[in-house]
Amino acid sequence: MINAVHKSFLAELNRLLPHNRVYTDPVDCYAYAYDNSRNYHSPIAVVFPLTIEEVQSVILLCNAHKVPVVPRGRGTGTAGGSVPEAGGVALSLERMDKIISIDPDNRMAIVEPGVLNQVLQDEIKPVGFFWPPDPSSAAYCSIGGNLATCAAGPHAVKYGVARDHILGLKAVTGKGEIIKTGCYTSKGVVGYDLTRLLVGSEGTLAVICEATLKLTPLPKHTGGITAEFVDTESCAKAIAAIMAQPYTPSALEFLDNGALTLIRSRHQNLLPENARAYLMIEVDGSQQEIVEATDAILLACQVAGLIEAKPAHDTKALWAARKALSPLHC
Ligand SMILES: Cc1cc2nc3c(=O)[nH]c(=O)nc-3n(C[C@H](O)[C@H](O)[C@H](O)COP(=O)(O)OP(=O)(O)OC[C@H]3O[C@@H](n4cnc5c(N)ncnc54)[C@H](O)[C@@H]3O)c2cc1C
Repeated sequence: MINAVHKSFLAELNRLLPHNRVYTDPVDCYAYAYDNSRNYHSPIAVVFPLTIEEVQSVILLCNAHKVPVVPRGRGTGTAGGSVPEAGGVALSLERMDKIISIDPDNRMAIVEPGVLNQVLQDEIKPVGFFWPPDPSSAAYCSIGGNLATCAAGPHAVKYGVARDHILGLKAVTGKGEIIKTGCYTSKGVVGYDLTRLLVGSEGTLAVICEATLKLTPLPKHTGGITAEFVDTESCAKAIAAIMAQPYTPSALEFLDNGALTLIRSRHQNLLPENARAYLMIEVDGSQQEIVEATDAILLACQVAGLIEAKPAHDTKALWAARKALSPLHC
């Protein structure tokens, strides 16, 4: 509901940014009223800043009019963090989508928050790197959203989460101050670690406007292993045994019976019929490391309740099915 206070606010907002970067039509705004949490609260306006200074101006204006403002990446979050529950402004970072620089010599990339995770991965792969946070939504979610939620995916078991792959940020605080956190070297030990504080703060402390990401060299080789179990308990015992041996898998994905049933409903013959719990495991490194890690992990899977554990030469179809799992849930 737009009241008199909102009217004067919206008039000022329209003076701040060009017409095509401020939505106030309720139909346009509705597309920014929800995320993957399935909660709906429409904003009174959606704004699309292009620079950190524009983000600052929007926040200062919202503060002056006591209008709530909620940063938003691509709205794939499952916790409702980008839903404007109290109304106000949806501050969409989707048009701040430039990769500012890729610096293989220093293993880093500087990006704007609206860059999609997959776009970054595709750009850095040819120079031999990847950015380890790999949520299943990589094709649609933004780096800003990944950092704000401290996202991760199946590779977290070896490579950690978004917080482990960031060197520094430029951001605008809720007060409207532009801040720069972190440093641009691998060793940065002085002072309070504001970067790690902002990562995972879901937009409650500051709007991330630029991120210096720590890149990781692509492994030389990867290998796959799958393991099927009669129940969750035996599978859990195998996971514990895998984690107790020295070779850390580069990805470890557990599929329970519910997940297996969903996949079977769409992809017949991809999974064995009698399995009630399933592990998709990836190892990476040199050929020799892969042979050793595969042997050690296959041995760790030998628990009561194992149906079969085996090297998987092509896990592409299975990973694709796994990635499609979250939308199937809907
Ligand atoms: C099919 C599917 C699969 C998924 N799989 C995974 C998974 O494997 N692992 C995982 O961790 N998550 C997963 N998610 C959840 C979601 O994709 C991630 O949380 C993602 O990081 C959110 O990015 P986004 O750009 O969509 O952010 P949004 O949903 O728009 O925002 C998420 C939060 O970040 C804040 N925010 C966004 N941008 C900024 C910014 N620039 N500055 C400050 N705050 C900001 C928002 O206010 C909100 O609180 C999945 C979601 C879907 C739909």
